[in-house]
Amino acid sequence: MQGISEIRQEKVVPHAPENKVSFVRAAKPAVSKSHCQQNYNCITFCPRNAIFLDSKGFPEINYSLCDGCLICLRECPASAIGEGHG
Ligand code: SF4
Repeated sequence: MQGISEIRQEKVVPHAPENKVSFVRAAKPAVSKSHCQQNYNCITFCPRNAIFLDSKGFPEINYSLCDGCLICLRECPASAIGEGHG
């Protein structure tokens, strides 16, 4: 099983032009840090590597990579990811 530092190294792709979203996303997920239990399902399941950790270990979403599939919302057991638009 991977530790979070290994997941972070694999998942952080800060500037990968080939992965950038080239269309308007259907939904815009947002992380509630007050609800986040830091289990990192969102990072594990995001198919676009659009989620990274901030300096305090909370998920942040890179909207230039996110396509709004909302898999992160469905996979979060703490319901810490909500849905917006745009
Ligand atoms: S909506 Fe989809 S692409 Fe965007 S951060 Fe969540 S899982 Fe990743």
